[in-house]
Amino acid sequence: MEMKIGVIKGDGIGPEIVDEALKVLDRIAAVYGHSFSYTQLLMGGASIDVNGVPLTEETLEEAKRSDAVLMGSIGGDAKTSPWYQLEPSKRPEAGLLQLRKGLNLFANLRPAVLYEELKGACPLKEEIADKGFDMMIMRELTGGLYFGKRSTEKVDGVLVAKDELTYSEEEIRRIAKRGFDIAMKRRRKVTSVDKANVLDSSRLWRKVVEEVAADYPEVTLEHMLVDNCAMQLVKDPAQFDVILTENMFGDILSDEASMVTGSIGMLSSASLNDTKFGLYEPSGGSAPDIAGKGIANPIATILSAAMMLRYSFDLDTEADAIERAVSLALKDGYRTADIMSEGKTQVGTKEMGSRICEYINSESEE
Ligand code: NAD
Repeated sequence: MEMKIGVIKGDGIGPEIVDEALKVLDRIAAVYGHSFSYTQLLMGGASIDVNGVPLTEETLEEAKRSDAVLMGSIGGDAKTSPWYQLEPSKRPEAGLLQLRKGLNLFANLRPAVLYEELKGACPLKEEIADKGFDMMIMRELTGGLYFGKRSTEKVDGVLVAKDELTYSEEEIRRIAKRGFDIAMKRRRKVTSVDKANVLDSSRLWRKVVEEVAADYPEVTLEHMLVDNCAMQLVKDPAQFDVILTENMFGDILSDEASMVTGSIGMLSSASLNDTKFGLYEPSGGSAPDIAGKGIANPIATILSAAMMLRYSFDLDTEADAIERAVSLALKDGYRTADIMSEGKTQVGTKEMGSRICEYINSESEE
């Protein structure tokens, strides 16, 4: 298979972790006989430095011409980086919002998995961690509060800020369908999260999700209020398969879910549109505190590349091979600093990438 991959290395640890994911993709291409070509794209702080803006029209067009985009992470230290002297619409994060909108990426997938080998890092009680968990948080990405009209004005001499939360039936239906499709490939359970006891947008959300559920009789649907969901994630995370929710709730819950795994450097993510195209990136940020030190964990980015193979290219065997190689590297005791524990072998970013490559070979299919 020949695929054209846009590559946004980004800022901070971005270039280091993306290089390891490309190494793994090259290994997959060699073992399974594919051809992946890479086009480097500038976004975020790296684009501000060169182009004065976090995302140019040309970069967006080039991204659209790719079969998928693999990204590191963008942004810098808000206290020290000159990028944060700029007005909010010109900062690195604005480029990411523009890219998501420009590519119509309305569905964000964030798996939160507790690896057997990393149970010790889970901050939850032992009896909860022992049960393990493997959930997929599906967050609506281009609607809701983050994309609504906003304003700050003086009313009767007092500053008043307003943010609008809007969802249409269509926006809810398309993400709900994606959520149920993903559930069909997993344990066939969807937990739809809303605040239907207060918000009109949530009541519409619940109604449309129920309509979509009627087309998926094999999938069990339950509704959960967002405040309860925040509690259940720390009390009994094993109950969740697919969590389907709107933009702001998903932003908060997916961060909570990633923290209960105890290892942000392990968590991949994908953002999808109506087509096979997707943007794949680690869940963590650009980690300016460890950038350039060669110690960042590349596994989240490597697993994001595996998601790209699975969801954009339908290369499930190859995606499985990457996931298996990551598990084997962990089983054999290799750890980057962020997931290091007693008796294990600490390795840097590059060595972790190389070790994972070594476990990818055609015999591993058996
Ligand atoms: P962060 O995720 O970058 O860092 C939080 C902590 O996790 C840090 O201690 C960091 O060292 C550690 N960490 C993160 N990824 C790691 C990895 N792969 N290996 C080892 N340790 C890792 O969050 P932050 O410090 O709040 O944000 C830093 C910058 O990243 C900000 O500019 C923020 O806006 C940006 N950010 C970007 C994205 C994105 O590109 N999608 C997402 C979140 C934050």
